[in-house]
Formats: sequence, structure tokens, C-alpha cells
Amino acid sequence: MDKRESIRILEDAKSVLTQYIERHGLRKTQERYAILEAAYNFNGSFSIEELSDALKPTCQVTYPTLYRTLGLFVTLGLVIRHTHHAVQCYEKCFGVKTFFQMVCVHCGKVIPFKSVVLMEALRDTKYPRFRPNNTTVCVYGSCTQCNTRMSREQKKLDRQRVLQEKKSQLLKEERLKRQVESRRKRREEARQQNEQNEEGKDD
Ligand SMILES: [Zn+2]
Repeated sequence: MDKRESIRILEDAKSVLTQYIERHGLRKTQERYAILEAAYNFNGSFSIEELSDALKPTCQVTYPTLYRTLGLFVTLGLVIRHTHHAVQCYEKCFGVKTFFQMVCVHCGKVIPFKSVVLMEALRDTKYPRFRPNNTTVCVYGSCTQCNTRMSREQKKLDRQRVLQEKKSQLLKEERLKRQVESRRKRREEARQQNEQNEEGKDD
């Protein structure tokens, strides 16, 4: 998307917000527009912390205000919200009709992808008594970094398990050896005792 197109989309998004504010007789605070602008400056998804950081140089907005305002933007169709486990992120969506995203369920990373097949399937889908505005297709899974990390962790666990098994096998063998030895000793003692008894009788 070129810069002019981005500016046009932001202006359209702002006018959606203005219409809402006027319809509900709300005050036209600059805060909401600043948040909208900051949200639209992100290419791709962002967390509430990232948005707060981006706003810091220009205006201080509290987290409750950010959550409330982003909630309003979601209702107005200006941003979409992804929630994966505890990770919540947002993304501008006005002027973008279809989102194809791969979402990592472990770290919450959102990676956009393209699919002509899905695009055509969505276009040909009938929506009974419903007019869709925009569509989000989320494919949940695990990203390369998380896969690498998890397989490393799994290998470590496997190694630890093998070591633990070897150790307990050794302990078992030691115990057995000790048992055999003490049985042998007892038998030897009994034999000697027996011999002494026999000798006693002979005397
Ligand atoms: Zn991941």
C-alpha cells in the first residue's frame, strides 16, 4: 500500500469515528484521533503496550482508556482484535477487506499470508441474509522459532529421561548384586555353622 493510499484510508477511518461521535453526542477529544492515528501507523498487528509506547511522545493515554477506545474501534470495524491465550493484539482493518493470518498459539505472533484459492472461495461463498464487511481467516499453529524451541526442549527432556532410566537401572542392578551377595554370605555362614555342629557331635 503506498503512502497516499494509507493517508486516504486513515482519513476515511477518522470520518467513521467522527460520524459515531456526532451521532452519540460525544465530545470530540483529540485523544481518540491520536490513538486511531497511532494504530494506523502500525504495519501489521500491535499490542496495547506497543501502542502506548508509540503514543508516549505525543500524548499520555492510560491503559483503561486505550482498552476502551480500541474496543470502540473494534465495534466500528476500524481495527480487529486477535486473542491467543493471554496475548491480545490489534490490527487496522478499515479499507482492507480480507485478512489471511497465521497465528502462533505459543507466542501470539501474527504472520500475514496470501491465498488466491481462499480468496476465490470466500468470494463465491453465499452469506444468507448477511452483508459481510471484511473477513479474517486465522490459521492457528506454531511458528518456526517456537517449533525450534519446543523441539530443543523435547530433546533435552528425552536426554534427561534416558539418563534417569540408566541411573535407576544401575541402582536396581546394584541392589540385586547386594541381595545375591548377602544370600551367598548367609548360606556360607549356615554351612560353616553346620560343619561346626557336625564336628561337635563327632567329639
Ligand atoms: Zn511462536
